[in-house]
Amino acid sequence: MQSETRQCQNCKKDFVIEPDDFAFYEKMKVPAPTWCPECRLQRRFAWRNEWKLMRKKDIHGKEIFSMYHEDSPVKILEVAEWYSDSWDPMEYGKEYDFSKSFFEQFKELLHQVPLMSRPLINPIRSDFSSNATEPKDCYLCFAASYIENCAYSIWGAKSKDIVDCYIFNESELCYDCVDITKCYKTLFSVSCEDCNEVVFSKNCVGCNNCFGCINLKNKSYHIFNEPCSKEKYAEKLKEFGISSRKNIETLRQQAIDFWIKFPNKYIHGRHNQDVSGNYIYNSKNSKHCWRLVGGENLKYCQNFTVGPAKDSYDHSNFGNGSELIYESLGVGKGVYDVAFSSLSFGSVSNLRYCFGCLQNSSFLFGCIGLRNKQYCILNKRYTKEEYEALVPKIIAHMNEMPYIDKKGCVYKYGEFFPTEMSPTAYNESFAQDFFPLTKKEVEEQGFVWREQKNKEFNATKSSPELPDYIKDVDDSILKEVISCPHAGKCEHECNGVFKITKQELQFYKKLNIPLPQTCQNCRHYARFAWRNPPKLWHRSCMRPGCTNEFETSYAPDRPEIVYCESCYQQEVA
Ligand SMILES: [Zn+2]
Ligand SMILES: [Zn+2]
Ligand SMILES: [Zn+2]
Ligand SMILES: [Zn+2]
Repeated sequence: MQSETRQCQNCKKDFVIEPDDFAFYEKMKVPAPTWCPECRLQRRFAWRNEWKLMRKKDIHGKEIFSMYHEDSPVKILEVAEWYSDSWDPMEYGKEYDFSKSFFEQFKELLHQVPLMSRPLINPIRSDFSSNATEPKDCYLCFAASYIENCAYSIWGAKSKDIVDCYIFNESELCYDCVDITKCYKTLFSVSCEDCNEVVFSKNCVGCNNCFGCINLKNKSYHIFNEPCSKEKYAEKLKEFGISSRKNIETLRQQAIDFWIKFPNKYIHGRHNQDVSGNYIYNSKNSKHCWRLVGGENLKYCQNFTVGPAKDSYDHSNFGNGSELIYESLGVGKGVYDVAFSSLSFGSVSNLRYCFGCLQNSSFLFGCIGLRNKQYCILNKRYTKEEYEALVPKIIAHMNEMPYIDKKGCVYKYGEFFPTEMSPTAYNESFAQDFFPLTKKEVEEQGFVWREQKNKEFNATKSSPELPDYIKDVDDSILKEVISCPHAGKCEHECNGVFKITKQELQFYKKLNIPLPQTCQNCRHYARFAWRNPPKLWHRSCMRPGCTNEFETSYAPDRPEIVYCESCYQQEVA
């Protein structure tokens, strides 16, 4: 088979389907896509709220914390109740109706079966976290696996005592970092690996006690890339005074101004073989991927905090033992042969168009919220024979009577769920982070936009009133409601106010770092600026004389110097 150029149904731009891609679609028994990879990604992300916890009434009328907005048409149950046997999702089962499109029937069911308020697997004392596997004593952590005593962090795994981090793995006692792996006591740093007590540093590997450094490998006691004695280092660190917030903001700017003079490798990632994308670790033969750990034979996949993940296309957010997954979101922890599904995890297989189906479920089509079930369609049970006879008829019906969205895109068998049916409004979703649209654009495209409720702030303190040094803070701070200087008016979904928890105060005291000055959303979006987007540009190495070309997630208009692998290695040697 040869590669083929097709026009995307959605954006009308051309995209290429390679021979390997066709082989994968054949293996999954799905048609080739009609949307380009980027539009497919945007459509999946529109089905996921990654970071925003909201108040919504559960089916009993009790207000709880949820990933869904109070105006979202879906019904919810608190996590423990959802997992209990006090309700039965099979009661909502429906006969397949050949007079209506499949997607309309799926939408009706989606608005009836209660969803888990916050998708979690075995949470321990982590009532304000979501999309997480076994979080223990965590507060406002999202999209993370096996983390303990962490707060305000996202996309991490196997880590302990992490606050304000974005992309972290096997790390401990780290604060305000983006993309760290196997780091200990690393603060205000970006893309560091195997580092101990490293502060305001970037692209460092195997370093100890470094401050304001970039591109160092196996170095100790360096300040702004200059070596110094252990004694001198301690002296300078005292002088810098990172226990003061004022000093931190000055030092952060100094570090940024220093880093910008140095080259960056075209990709963040290590221990890979034949990969393209960004933030890729221990992976092979994986193309156009972004944030992968332990990936193999993947394409267009994103956000796997824990591997392995193999033989999959267009799979976002989870992994942790996943194989043969296509056009799915949030499926993982022992999943096999799943397509067009969301939030389905824990030893599930052979799912098509499922949402929130877990725990040893298999051979399900168009089901919602099932556990330990086999051979069901729209939450109705069939025999194996009936199921095997009915599914091909439904697929044929989907092709004969497709759903057509408000923009005119045609949804036959082989498309992910339409964005306009998402229980998450576009502006609440992860899509807004990477493919931002204005309210007008959202509504023109037929998607949902929901305003956050006007918050009433009764701040008892303003952040300039906070003690500059952590030593001057006592437990009385735990009672204060602190106003965020962005006052709910910035583009970061500012909460207007924030509080300090006991757990985080202990953390700041332990690391001798000051209180934050802005709310957790404003801090989150400030870190967001430090990660490259899930997009690739074809560029050339910027080292004079080098003609190497590569795919990089550094956009051509970004200020950083970007080098190919070999030029970068010469730089850091
Ligand atoms: Zn497109
Ligand atoms: Zn704020
Ligand atoms: Zn803000
Ligand atoms: Zn080069």
